Amino acid sequence: MSCPSRHTRPGLIAAALFLAFAPAQPVSSQVPAGGAGLVPPLLPEALSQAWLDERRDYGPPALVDHALVLSESKRISADSEGLFTLEEIGRSVEGRPILRVAFGRGPFHVLLWSQMHGDEPTATPALLHMAEYIRRHRDEPAIARILDELTVHMVPMLNPDGARRFQRRNAQGIDVNRDALLLQTPEGRALKALRDRFRPGLGFNLHNQNWRMAAGKTGKPASFALLSVAFDEARTMTPGRVLTKKTCAVMRDVLETFAPGQVARYDDEFEVRAFGDNITLWGTPVVLLESGAFGGTTPDEDLVRLNFVALMAALDAVASRRVHDADLGRYESLPVNQSGLFALLVRGAAIVTGTGIAPFIGDVGIGVVRAVRGEIDGEREFVRVLRVDDLGDLRVFHALETVEVAGMYVAPAWDRALKPGVTIDVPDWTTVKSKTPLAVGMPANLVLLRHLGDDRYLVERVIEAEEVLGKR
Ligand SMILES: [Zn+2]
Repeated sequence: MSCPSRHTRPGLIAAALFLAFAPAQPVSSQVPAGGAGLVPPLLPEALSQAWLDERRDYGPPALVDHALVLSESKRISADSEGLFTLEEIGRSVEGRPILRVAFGRGPFHVLLWSQMHGDEPTATPALLHMAEYIRRHRDEPAIARILDELTVHMVPMLNPDGARRFQRRNAQGIDVNRDALLLQTPEGRALKALRDRFRPGLGFNLHNQNWRMAAGKTGKPASFALLSVAFDEARTMTPGRVLTKKTCAVMRDVLETFAPGQVARYDDEFEVRAFGDNITLWGTPVVLLESGAFGGTTPDEDLVRLNFVALMAALDAVASRRVHDADLGRYESLPVNQSGLFALLVRGAAIVTGTGIAPFIGDVGIGVVRAVRGEIDGEREFVRVLRVDDLGDLRVFHALETVEVAGMYVAPAWDRALKPGVTIDVPDWTTVKSKTPLAVGMPANLVLLRHLGDDRYLVERVIEAEEVLGKR
């Protein structure tokens, strides 16, 4: 481990780089690099449209495997006439190569890494899309400026063994993001060595967060949470942290173009063992980007697209120096990430538990987990599983989808014949027994029934706990 005295002035190297890099005059009077007149910025809408028009279809990010990352990185590099550098910077516990995909020849180095947590895949395809976009558009002025001003190092899929299992931890069972000090994981060692070798002036740590996160008390999902990562308990400000806050401000404005009210600020508590915190301490100020829920059952395309757009716009803002003009207040005023969002909230129903208890009035809060199943090296399935997370009076909570069902019954799907449109007779609800009762922790295989009078009920909706979202 390095000598502590090197860190008596945390962020000093980044600060020096930042100051050397900052324009001496206001941006508006700067003659931009290249001398070909003012280079227009990359516009979020144009980036988004380019992604829609040009992207390669990698399928759901959860099923993007290490072999695809390897083959795409090789293809993009081989096709780039020397624009890209592809390097193996280490091997995972199980021997999978960890890659550095680099481009640009500028003095200011930027480091981006994705999927340090194996089950947080959104940014990995976004990084591949970025590399491909840079390759295809390298002669356009704004991209040429990025290549002239920056050297960008990407590590797509830092934890390939975790990704293979769709699990947070690496093959040792260690959370790599708690290994910055002990450095017992080869993945963590590779990241630190890369950081120390290039001493980038800015880093991006790319994750996914729990779908229960909302943007403040608005009830809207925190589709993205941003953080200017602190390097001490006091959350000391340095020029490096000003840069990350301003970068977050730029990204917020870009993301809110597409997802108004869905950008939050991540909890800024200092974590002594985490990589973002320590990489900031070692001199590379870090922006944390967490992708969350977006609404709907297949939000991945939007999340990947907006990762691509926000990260490209951030690189452009840094390369053009426009980041220095960003309003710090746009970072400080971000609503705080807040837990308590359900995927689906059934409000005001008569709840039938399927255990012989008489129906009672209440709400049912349903959460979602996403999982990958199947052989480690065979075909794999990406599934969404709904689960009952809470029931009772849930009026203080919000959800991605809320169903108001006053006067209706919610029950476990006790019979396979229960399909939408079917009418049934239930003389006594206490006789309805289900092998999978409606209870907290159980899969949400449920039916919503409208009372037609007497003992008759109409099945209005069937909620299936499990849905296969993709195979590979
Ligand atoms: Zn994570």
